[in-house]
Amino acid sequence: VSTIRIGDIEAEKGTKKFGYVEIGQTPTSPIVLPVGIINGLQPGRTLCITAGTHACEYAGIDAAIRIYRDTDPIDLSGSIIVVPVINMPAFEEATAYVCPIDSAGIAVPGNPRGTISQIIGYRLLEDVISKADFHIDLHGGDATEMEIPFAIYTKTANEEIDKKSETLARLFGTEYIWLAHLRKACGCIVEGWRYNLAYEAPLRGIPSAIGEAGEMGTYRDEDVSILLEGAKNVMKYLKIIDGEFTMPSKQTVFDKTFDVNTEHGGIFFPESRVGNRVSKGQVVGKILNLQGEIIEQIKAPVDGVFYNSWPKHVVNTGDLVFRGWMAKEL
Ligand SMILES: [Zn+2]
Repeated sequence: VSTIRIGDIEAEKGTKKFGYVEIGQTPTSPIVLPVGIINGLQPGRTLCITAGTHACEYAGIDAAIRIYRDTDPIDLSGSIIVVPVINMPAFEEATAYVCPIDSAGIAVPGNPRGTISQIIGYRLLEDVISKADFHIDLHGGDATEMEIPFAIYTKTANEEIDKKSETLARLFGTEYIWLAHLRKACGCIVEGWRYNLAYEAPLRGIPSAIGEAGEMGTYRDEDVSILLEGAKNVMKYLKIIDGEFTMPSKQTVFDKTFDVNTEHGGIFFPESRVGNRVSKGQVVGKILNLQGEIIEQIKAPVDGVFYNSWPKHVVNTGDLVFRGWMAKEL
């Protein structure tokens, strides 16, 4: 292991360093990417850990911060690059999903001459993640979103890389894994996840997976632990830190999702929640009008498991209220 340098942040062998890479400016201050580099004494692999694409997903952000703070470079074989918050403008204003400067999600692969969210995505991939051999991205439900813990990986048609991405996802130890199918169209990602580092990193030869825990802008210790233990398990598997990794014997991988949207506007009363298994035709919520009458019974369109919900009390036609995985063997 020699020196690792990202922007002006440089860590010699056996040291760590934290700093801010300037990405752009507001009229009065820099727009930055926070980066921590932990450079081990012994040679080994480099793992990049990112969080805060969605800046109110605090469990992931807190897990990334703790990894940087609590890891001693003396104990490492290889190195770890930590970006605790990708979307800093959103973090500073506690904005869900999007960057408040351009009202857009962090875009990857991004564009160095696009709007700030595209620049952040581009610089993150080119300047930071490209320096790693493996990548994990820490997420959870954003400020308006309920969610169960799970992990995600994607396929890129490179079987060797895809197998490694799947292993990273499984190492989070969650009961459910989502194999998210993505394809590129018109320069953006469609089908599934729109802002997906777990697709763009493997396209560059860097296996990648996403860990998800936490919801509704909370920062519960049990959610931080899921992501922290998942990341440490990955570090053990890659032999960056000492210790036996654990691989759960039974995890269910889903590869098809479904949405439940409202047909009517009104006041929404959910009758199911994330983590529930539902069967086709089962009532999962009701919509009432302002006279208190039921105007819609919302039914599950297929058998499956709900993993996301947006528990808005007031809904309009077409609002997404639950998202699930279609059942195979449960
Ligand atoms: Zn997220």
